[in-house]
Amino acid sequence: MLDAIVVGVGTMGAATCDALARRGASVLGLEQFDIPHALGAHHGHSRLFRTAYFEHPDYVPLLREAFDLWQDLERRTARRLLLVTGVLYVGHEEGELVPRTLASARAHDVPCETLAPETLADRFPAFRVPPGFAALLEPHAGLVLPELAVATLASEAIRHGGQLRAHERVLDWRDTGTSVLVRARRDPDGQEYEIEARSIIFCCGAWTSRLAHDLGHRLHVTRQPVAWFGPGEPAAFDLGAFPCWAFESQSREFFYGIPILPSSPGIKVGAHATGRPTDPDLVDRGIHAADLDPLRRFLAEHMPTADGPLLGAAVCTYTNSPDGHFIVDRIGARAAIACGFSGHGFKFAPVIGEILADLALEGRTSRPASFLSLQRFGAA
Ligand SMILES: Cc1cc2nc3c(=O)[nH]c(=O)nc-3n(C[C@H](O)[C@H](O)[C@H](O)COP(=O)(O)OP(=O)(O)OC[C@H]3O[C@@H](n4cnc5c(N)ncnc54)[C@H](O)[C@@H]3O)c2cc1C
Repeated sequence: MLDAIVVGVGTMGAATCDALARRGASVLGLEQFDIPHALGAHHGHSRLFRTAYFEHPDYVPLLREAFDLWQDLERRTARRLLLVTGVLYVGHEEGELVPRTLASARAHDVPCETLAPETLADRFPAFRVPPGFAALLEPHAGLVLPELAVATLASEAIRHGGQLRAHERVLDWRDTGTSVLVRARRDPDGQEYEIEARSIIFCCGAWTSRLAHDLGHRLHVTRQPVAWFGPGEPAAFDLGAFPCWAFESQSREFFYGIPILPSSPGIKVGAHATGRPTDPDLVDRGIHAADLDPLRRFLAEHMPTADGPLLGAAVCTYTNSPDGHFIVDRIGARAAIACGFSGHGFKFAPVIGEILADLALEGRTSRPASFLSLQRFGAA
């Protein structure tokens, strides 16, 4: 019998298959689309990697392990997946972004440099910053390449004996009392089949509520557009010349951006705000003026030289938990789940994979992740 079936081979599923296979466990990963694909949460060329974590300092130990694990994956595969560009944080000195990033950095000794307004203007002249704003540079932060990272994790899982199958959708499952019985459908021929395993791990992203019914009311899926713009002086925004950045505007809206990468001709800009609710199978993937207007307004006000022609756009999804923090836990005796990554989970993928492998194989984890358990909602 298989040790584990992983439902969904996207970000967290690919990492979990890799972690399980490297431990010698027999694992089957089932993915409803391609591995990777552009219909979930892991497309769009880049994901920020930050360690001085404004969302909560408890994430920092997990981020440190994730950083090491990304580098270990790079060494194992001779691929560059994590690009250290530095991340620049800009926001009102009494806002959330800069003070909370600084608090997290201080609590865990994460190196960060405070930039006085004249230093910011000197080193990063692209930014227009009003009085009362502060800036912080985290030099050992940067970005992960999501499509390549998912493909690499999946390849490593296969190389270590894992079985991965695309275009196979898990329809339902039940706990038999001694194992789990999973029913799935192969899309190409419509064939349904059942398969048994010692445990099941749900890494279903936006589709989580379809299978883990008990959690359904706790997650909401939103549509999240991002865009790429051609700056006036492209060389100033190139990878190596310009950092990744996060910016809290005067109206307390969060924006983020990525320098020009070899895979895209413009700088990427997104708003880290909860978008319109959507069904994951009915996402409106068209790009509308309402998607671009907030990004244009931000660029015009704070990065005018980057406010050039539109060069690309994409629509992705966030799967939001009620409090914006991840849900990583066991559910019942033979199931584990990782969901509700609320638009900030990618950077954690390899450490989440290790935690889920711990939960599936040992029933517990010694990694400091209890703050992500379901117990905080009063659920078992
Ligand atoms: C625009 C945008 C920007 C972001 N920026 C950042 C960032 O800068 N930094 C960061 O850390 N994070 C960022 N994130 C968040 C991060 O990308 C997500 O938190 C992460 O990718 C979620 O991973 P996941 O495995 O839950 O979902 P996915 O990667 O979507 O994987 C879920 C997989 O499960 C499959 N699946 C579901 N149901 C079934 C089924 N029944 N049978 C078979 N397969 C199934 C799906 O097809 C999918 O492949 C961003 C997200 C978006 C949308």
